[in-house]
Amino acid sequence: MEMSSFREKYKLEVVPVAVSGKRLQLYCVSNWDIFVDKLAQEGEEYIENFPFWVKIWEASVVLADHLVRIGLGKKKEILEIGAGMGVTGLFLGAFGHTVTVTDYEEEALELMTEVDDCRARLKRLREGVATKEQELAKLEVQVARRDKELEGIVAQKKGERDKVAGGIDAESLAAYERVLRCRGWPALVPARDGSCGGCFMSVTGQTLNLLLLGKELVFCQSCSRILYVEEAEADRVLKKREAV
Ligand SMILES: [Zn+2]
Repeated sequence: MEMSSFREKYKLEVVPVAVSGKRLQLYCVSNWDIFVDKLAQEGEEYIENFPFWVKIWEASVVLADHLVRIGLGKKKEILEIGAGMGVTGLFLGAFGHTVTVTDYEEEALELMTEVDDCRARLKRLREGVATKEQELAKLEVQVARRDKELEGIVAQKKGERDKVAGGIDAESLAAYERVLRCRGWPALVPARDGSCGGCFMSVTGQTLNLLLLGKELVFCQSCSRILYVEEAEADRVLKKREAV
C-alpha cells in the first residue's frame, strides 16, 4: 500500500499506555471505530478483511501486565506472533527482553514504517528549527551591536549639535528652528549664481549685499529659508562687480 493511501485510510494518534508502572507513548490508529462499525454492519462477510491490528485490545495490555507480574527471568528472547499493534511485545521490550514482533498483516507493519517516517520528519523539522534559531540569535547579536553603534552616533551628533548651538545666539537659533519647523530640512541654504539654493528663485542684489556684509541673518524672500554665501561665491560676485 502507498504511504499516502495508508495515511488517508488510517488516522494516527499518540496514546499513553501504562503497564506495571512503565508508561509508553504508542502511535495508534485513532479511527479504528470505523472498521468496528463496518464489522457490526456486515458481520461474518467482513471478518476476513477486518484489520484486527488497528485497535489496542485490552487483552494485549492484560497479557503484558500478566507476563511482567509472573516474571520471565532475566533477558528472554521472545517471539510475538500476530502482534497487531505490538503492545505486548513493546512492553516486554521496555522491560528489558529482546522481542521480535511479527504479523502477517502488511498494514500493521506499515504502521511501524509510518512511525519511523514520522520520527524522521520530526527530527528534520527540529533540526530546521534549531538552524533558524541559531540564525535568529546571530541576527539579534548583529542588531544589538548596530543599535549600540547608532546610539553612539546619535549621542556624538547630539553633542556636536549642542556645541554648535551653544555658540549661536538665542535669537538666531530660534529663527533657525522656526524655519526648520515650517520648511523642513535644510533650513540653511547657499545663495549661488544669484539664486536661492532651496527654492531656486532669484536673490535680489540687496539681499546679496546683506549676505556679503555678513552682519545679520538673511532670509530668502521667496521661501524664507536662511541664506548663506560660500567664500568662493563671494569672491566671484566681488570680482564680477569690480570688472563692471
Ligand atoms: Zn528660497
